[in-house]
Parts: sequence; C-alpha cells; structure tokens
Amino acid sequence: MKRITVYCASSAHINQVYFDAAEKLGALLVKNDCEVVFGGGSVGLMGKLADAILAHNGKITGIMPHFMNEVEWGHKGVAEFIYTDTMAQRKEKLIENSDGIIALPGGCGTLEELLEVITFKRLGLFYKPIVILNTNNFYDPLKLMLERCVEENFMQTQHLDMWHFVDEPEQVIEILAKEHVWMGGAIKFS
Ligand code: AMP
Repeated sequence: MKRITVYCASSAHINQVYFDAAEKLGALLVKNDCEVVFGGGSVGLMGKLADAILAHNGKITGIMPHFMNEVEWGHKGVAEFIYTDTMAQRKEKLIENSDGIIALPGGCGTLEELLEVITFKRLGLFYKPIVILNTNNFYDPLKLMLERCVEENFMQTQHLDMWHFVDEPEQVIEILAKEHVWMGGAIKFS
C-alpha cells in the first residue's frame, strides 16, 4: 500500500468542478491501494476528498495542529489523527514516509505546502513524485512561473523534472504508478 499525501483547499466557496475532481481522485486512490494523509479538515476540498476516501472504505489520516482541533476544524468521520504543536511540524508530518505528493487546487496554504516540498526536492531532502492536478487550468500561472524560473536561470533545466502537471485524476494515478527517478544527490546541482 502506498502512502500518498494530498494538499487541498479549505475553501468551500469554489466551483463544483474542483469538488468533482477531488471526489474522483479519492475513489481512484482507494481503488489503487493508496492510503491518504491530508490536512484533516472537514471543509472544502479537504472535506470532499476525505468523504470520498471514507465512502470507499479507504484509509485516511489527518494531520492538524492542536489550535485547529480546538476550534473543531477536524473531519469528524476521520478516525486517525496526528496532532502537532506547530504548522511547521504539521508540514513535516504530512510528508514523512510519503510515497508521493498530490496538490489539488487551493489557496495560500496549499501553495505554501506545495512550494516547500518542491524546495525540499530541489535540495535532495525529498525525492518522491509531486503531481499537481491542474483542474480547470487552475495551476497554469504557477506552471508558467516555475518555467520562467528555469528560463531565467533561477533554477536549472533538470528541475523541470521535479513536478508533473496533469489535467485529470486518472493521470495522477498513472504518474504515481511509474518508477520515479530523483536523486538524493540533487543538492549537487541545486
Ligand atoms: P488553503 O489552500 O489556503 O485553503 O490552505 C489549506 C491549508 O489551510 C490547510 O492545510 C490548513 O493548513 C489550513 N486551513 C485553513 N482553513 C482550514 C480549515 N477550516 N480546516 C483545516 N485546515 C484549514
């Protein structure tokens, strides 16, 4: 069983296409024998993903700082939770022993989590696949920004291999199933 981390939005005020993609992804992850680790929230894409995993009898763990639990942001149907003291510890726990990262569309929290794990990969501290689900072309500006970083030599051409932008949940599964090559020695060309 693969352990997959999913970064997802907390907002509930978003287009239905994002909920549909999160729901489909949840079902596909369970079908493909993946357990999921996520931010533990009950609303937005976090809530939708967790609902889908639970509906298919999948395994899901929420990771949440105590202060969010105290205001009852945790998903009530998720049995397994890890509580942390800080947001930084939460991010660390989210990727601990992870076999791959999926980023769904989101706000500043999701973007921060995604850019941190890409940064870790660049430094050779994380080497698993990072798949960005570009539903509704949401992530096109980020893709352009990252490519611009390379074009203007803020990063190197090899760094383009650190992430995969895909349009459909099925393609996320295809990428996670592939043999993934990224070097622990990435710091040498960082
Ligand atoms: P965003 O993409 O900005 O919605 O950020 C998602 C991240 O925001 C989560 O991983 C949490 O750090 C945090 N977050 C914000 N609101 C909530 C909420 N209601 N429940 C759980 N986490 C939340």
